[in-house]
Amino acid sequence: MLSSKDRHLLRDLLSSNRFGTFFGVSQQVLDLVWQALTSPTGESVTYISMEIGADLDVFHPVRDKLQQLEITEHPDEAGNRLLQLFLHGPVKIPNYSGGLGILAGDTLKSFADCKIPVVGISLLYRKGYFSQVVDSKIGQVAWASQWEPENTPGLYLLHDPDSPGQPLTIEIPFYDLQGIRFSAHAQLWLKMEINEALDFFVPEILLDYQTALSPDWIQDAAQHLYNSSSEKIKATQRRLLGAGIIPVMEALGLTSRTIHLNEQHGVGVVLSLITQLLQKKYGHQYEKKATDRHILAAAAEVAKRLVFTIHTPVKAGHDRFSASMYEELINPFCRRVLNLLALDENDPSVYNFTAMAMQLNRATNSVSRLHKEVTQKQFPQYAKKITAITNGVHHLTWTSKARAELYDTFPELHNWRKDPSVFARVESLRANNKFRTYFEHAWRTDTKVLADYVNQMLITHRNQCLATWIDPPNYLSYRKEEEAPFKYTTFTLGFARRFSTYKRADLIFEDLDRLAAIITENNWPVNFIYAGKAHPSDEPGKDLIRNILTVQEELYLKSNGLAKLVFIPGYDMHLAKMMVAGSHAWLNSPKRPLEASGTSGMKAALNGVPNVSIMDGWWVEGYHRGQTGWKFGYEDIVSPEHFSEQQSSLLYNEDSDSFYTVFPEMLRLFYDPSLHGQYIDKGIANLTLNYPIFNTHRMAAEYVARYDLDLAPELQQEMEKFRRLYCSDPSF
Ligand SMILES: *Cc1c(COP(=O)(O)O)cnc(C)c1O
Repeated sequence: MLSSKDRHLLRDLLSSNRFGTFFGVSQQVLDLVWQALTSPTGESVTYISMEIGADLDVFHPVRDKLQQLEITEHPDEAGNRLLQLFLHGPVKIPNYSGGLGILAGDTLKSFADCKIPVVGISLLYRKGYFSQVVDSKIGQVAWASQWEPENTPGLYLLHDPDSPGQPLTIEIPFYDLQGIRFSAHAQLWLKMEINEALDFFVPEILLDYQTALSPDWIQDAAQHLYNSSSEKIKATQRRLLGAGIIPVMEALGLTSRTIHLNEQHGVGVVLSLITQLLQKKYGHQYEKKATDRHILAAAAEVAKRLVFTIHTPVKAGHDRFSASMYEELINPFCRRVLNLLALDENDPSVYNFTAMAMQLNRATNSVSRLHKEVTQKQFPQYAKKITAITNGVHHLTWTSKARAELYDTFPELHNWRKDPSVFARVESLRANNKFRTYFEHAWRTDTKVLADYVNQMLITHRNQCLATWIDPPNYLSYRKEEEAPFKYTTFTLGFARRFSTYKRADLIFEDLDRLAAIITENNWPVNFIYAGKAHPSDEPGKDLIRNILTVQEELYLKSNGLAKLVFIPGYDMHLAKMMVAGSHAWLNSPKRPLEASGTSGMKAALNGVPNVSIMDGWWVEGYHRGQTGWKFGYEDIVSPEHFSEQQSSLLYNEDSDSFYTVFPEMLRLFYDPSLHGQYIDKGIANLTLNYPIFNTHRMAAEYVARYDLDLAPELQQEMEKFRRLYCSDPSF
């Protein structure tokens, strides 16, 4: 039986407006958010991202609330269907490939926590990003991801208020070579990022072009995230995002004056904005009447509405398309606009969309201090306006359950869920023996979860090979005599991220003899736990996975069975959370300065896990002279010759050599009982020095200030609290 209070809460969790019925927030909250997003003053922000990672198995406040209150049914039928979905429905939304998408999800969640009116816009990929299976000989095998937006909690197909029973759709124009216009149609999904208190949310509008009205090839182009089967498909996908933004805003009445481009993928929106502006000025004859000067003036006007976060110095992350191909997709007027704004300065046969995004905005930020320097060198003509706002992670998403219980236990950390800055004030905990004991206990709990997972996986793979053609990827699956080889008392080094060349996943296996010697000399066992996906068309990335599999046996034998290296297939947010919390140190070995920020290391830091990292990205700021972990590798000045991803310039020898000098020190601190306290000190220092900074509340607060967002005074004040903790860019 429901108590009357629960019944009240339940009634309060169902709300509706012209576009649908939603579960998880009250009518009052829905109205409040919608009003802010549609207010004539336009103070909200529209946040554009090609991918958004926000799986429900790492953060699911509505389900948590229901479980906490032991609510299992809803009095009315529609409510009950939604409630059951929240309690028992699927938890994966495979619409992200890596850090960029996770950052988008984390950012939107922090905006929801801080009650800042923001709406996200992205694409819905019915076949998502691929799922990864790994075979010992073939390496990575890509499988289609299966998920159903219809049956995923928190996702709603929006209704058209003017045609009852029909989905709300938008239409965007494409053109063929003869200039004949045709349309792509998208239906709109709403996903809600609801905050922990269930009193605010950030809606994400996901454009779904797989409707029968869209031409088949458009539907195909829209199915997979980062579909790069051809240059045209890739460009089409970008256009499906960029050209969809204004139609979505119009269909929903969204009024944001500020449009935030999370990376340049959606920069096509400027074509809509410039066209709109000129149409307003010169009427339907604008194509004839507007001179080049008028177009440039309109572009300057449009630029005032845009803010831009650039995420990587790596070429593959920058969109450059052959102009002759791209011209097929757009009308003659837009070609004119692009010829004025987007031609690559070194190659006029190419449209450079990163350069265009860099030019057309009122503020640009890079994602760490070092990345600012790099970006200024890559775009010297815009050096003045490029600033730094260092990335963060959503602390409620990435703090493990055991760690959250620890933080809940100590009054010094009271309110940490709402205010990650409390950690800055708790130096005293370092000397608190009860805290140290509990801290170690929580850590051990998480390492045990990870070790159990790996042991179980090894057995599952071994058994699966009888039923499928997949050979178990890990050498240890074949060593039947060793049951449960992973022990939680063994030093565990974690590494997981996208497998792309510059991240150098196999760096520390460069000299196996030396690595094995470090381990055998003192009889220090080590678990190496690896995971990550390579883009299916990235052959060198897939080679890295094969390299990891190949060295397993040799490393094991050379170390007399002390070194156990395992690769976990299917990297996703859930696995990431388990790995960062369960490791004893988190390894990051990119070629400096190509890792613009890196965020998995921040997730480790929030769980009090030290990093061992190249001095790249966020670690330049998070290292604190060794108090929070270790550094290795090249760390001198950066200059353009360091931007190369050529194999020969990746510094494998030098940087692995450097790793072998710090690794023994780490193991000694961990294993020597008289030094172990110092290991724990490093863990705790991550809480006091890094927790307050490398979270998305602080990052959002810097966005608010840097982008001059016009928020209510009490919101400004609240954000000021986080902003005071850190200034990513002292020159600002
Ligand atoms: C955090 C995260 C990433 C990004 O990690 P980096 O350290 O920035 O490379 C990628 N994938 C998943 C699943 C993550 O959770």
